[in-house]
Amino acid sequence: MAAGVAVEVFPLKCVVQHYAWGKIGQDSEVAKLILGDDPAIAIEQDKPYAELWMGAHPKGDAAICDNRIPQETLGAWIAEHPNSLGSKVKCTFQGQLPFLFKVLSVNISLSIQAHPNKELAEKLHTQYPDRYPDKNHKPEMAIALTPFEGLCGFRPVNEIIGFLKNVPEFHAVIGNEAAEMLENSTGDPHQVSAALKQCFTRMMNCEKKTFVDQLNMLVKRVSQEAAAGEDTTGSNGELLLRLHCQFPGDVGCFVIYFLNLVQLQPGQAMFLGANEPHAYLYGDCIECMACSDNTVRAGLTPKFIDVQTLCEMLNYVPAPACLKIFPSVRDSSDPFVFLYDPPVSDFTVMRIEVPSSVKRYTVSSIDSASILLVIRGEARGIAPPSEVNVRRGSVLFIAADKAVDLCISSVDGMLLFRACCLL
Ligand SMILES: [Zn+2]
Repeated sequence: MAAGVAVEVFPLKCVVQHYAWGKIGQDSEVAKLILGDDPAIAIEQDKPYAELWMGAHPKGDAAICDNRIPQETLGAWIAEHPNSLGSKVKCTFQGQLPFLFKVLSVNISLSIQAHPNKELAEKLHTQYPDRYPDKNHKPEMAIALTPFEGLCGFRPVNEIIGFLKNVPEFHAVIGNEAAEMLENSTGDPHQVSAALKQCFTRMMNCEKKTFVDQLNMLVKRVSQEAAAGEDTTGSNGELLLRLHCQFPGDVGCFVIYFLNLVQLQPGQAMFLGANEPHAYLYGDCIECMACSDNTVRAGLTPKFIDVQTLCEMLNYVPAPACLKIFPSVRDSSDPFVFLYDPPVSDFTVMRIEVPSSVKRYTVSSIDSASILLVIRGEARGIAPPSEVNVRRGSVLFIAADKAVDLCISSVDGMLLFRACCLL
């Protein structure tokens, strides 16, 4: 190593979170990736591998795999080298990496939730610091690695009215007055939002005994219809029974009549901005988010639900499921890069698809620290004074203004995801 040349590109060993909802053993993409990176690792066949945290979050700070570097973790290294974030990022985010990059493997649904905007996050944190641990917003982006299923945003009103007609048990927890308000709302978006809010608030405030009775009746009816081979799509039967099996008696089982079911194919994304109700149901994805833990839950959870905050904050704007798919855009300066650039400043994700015909590729230098995950392919990565072999599951930290030359040895090209902050 040449004296004075700093090591600014290095591999990370990332933290696995074994939450109970994760896919089990080698069914989990998280487990497959860590095994790809380190074939000596032992995957426990009965243990959930839910999340891989690729970042500097205090609850899961990635370990640095480079014996020339004295700091053990990425967070400790960035604290000593804040310029590595890039001048704008360092200034805007007070010397912190502004995003957390993850892989998620979802076997059992995560809670239906929404995240406050910055203004509300500040207010909630001041009022209830135990429940809302920081002042930051928490925009999130999920990019499917395998076919991925989630709930996102309110359905078009005609779909919700259809369920009110087809599912009398759902109608019963909403009540006649609110249901009629929605049925009679026409055209005017303010009127529609007000009616939607009224219906949703009625359901969330429904007396526990009433909704449990109605839910039990609904589940019994749909189970009988399914057993008789009848079509239960009018009651969203398949999803209802699946979620009821995972969370019996949970109000979230009715939330499926309000929210869009979004099915993503690999490479497709969902962006979850402030106040957008959502849940991850099944599948493997890349996730990038702003650094925050502020979550307001709405169901499919044994945890506390802050009903009043939830019903006040939500984005009651109905839209079809197809509009919930967030498009990636080909980078004008690099035909192999597709950008997922959400309308927030905290992060951008790049999908880099290097075709099999290309054997030398440069991961370009940008004015932001970034984290690179290899999903497919093998290469020797060169960023003097660093040289490192990367393969499926490898995770690299790349300081701002550093490029990495890849000498690709795999025959089927490479697929990489890179998280950064383009200000
Ligand atoms: Zn969320």
